[in-house]
Amino acid sequence: MNKLIVYLAFALSLFGLGTTTVFALQSTHINNNLQVNEDFVLGKFDYKTHKSFTKVNSKFTSKPIYLQIKVYDAFLKMDKAAKKDGINLFIISCTRNFKEQKAIWERKWRKYDNLEETKRARHILEYSSMPSTSRHHWGTDLDLNHLTNSYFETGKGKVVYDWLTKNASTFGFYQVYTDKDNGRTGYNLEKWHWSYLPLAKDYLEFYNLNINYNDIRGFKGDHLAKNMKMIEEYVNGIARKAQIFN
Ligand SMILES: [Zn+2]
Repeated sequence: MNKLIVYLAFALSLFGLGTTTVFALQSTHINNNLQVNEDFVLGKFDYKTHKSFTKVNSKFTSKPIYLQIKVYDAFLKMDKAAKKDGINLFIISCTRNFKEQKAIWERKWRKYDNLEETKRARHILEYSSMPSTSRHHWGTDLDLNHLTNSYFETGKGKVVYDWLTKNASTFGFYQVYTDKDNGRTGYNLEKWHWSYLPLAKDYLEFYNLNINYNDIRGFKGDHLAKNMKMIEEYVNGIARKAQIFN
């Protein structure tokens, strides 16, 4: 199928139809397999009623949360393996849609209203996503056990982190917000944030092919997204390992 698309794209380009057509073909291709569309990657859907999502068992969480079924299955396998090694995994947060992200963003937007707009957005972005640029929209990403890096640097937290670093990839989960020493842009180090790449890599690809700054709208400060290179530096600001995952 991939080869067919390449040939088709090549043939169309000969006829001068240009890159727009090529991208449209590719996005349809992904669309057919994953049932993904623009609203999905922007978080504009209700995960509670979406057929690919399921509620997470309350033993893993303190509030009602949802994950994609495939991601949850992988998580359950990972948890089983972790338990054998004496590790308990706890999900603090996973899927958040546009509306929920907008509520978080705008609460912080009001809180820091003493700051100039770009500085204010940068400050919020240290640990919160701009709506429609969050991987948490996709139902593929998990915040595990504790929301501070220091927790994972000593004692019990370090044991959990070391286990995840060694084993999570076996189950498809990768830390995407690694340290920024190697030139990674965007969100700061998050030792708690793990992404299920077998699905998320295709959502990112779809995002890059189909979403532009006109789609990142509908919240306070949305006019800053383009100048702040939200797509290039934040949406794509993930660990090298996650970029080359296949
Ligand atoms: Zn997260």
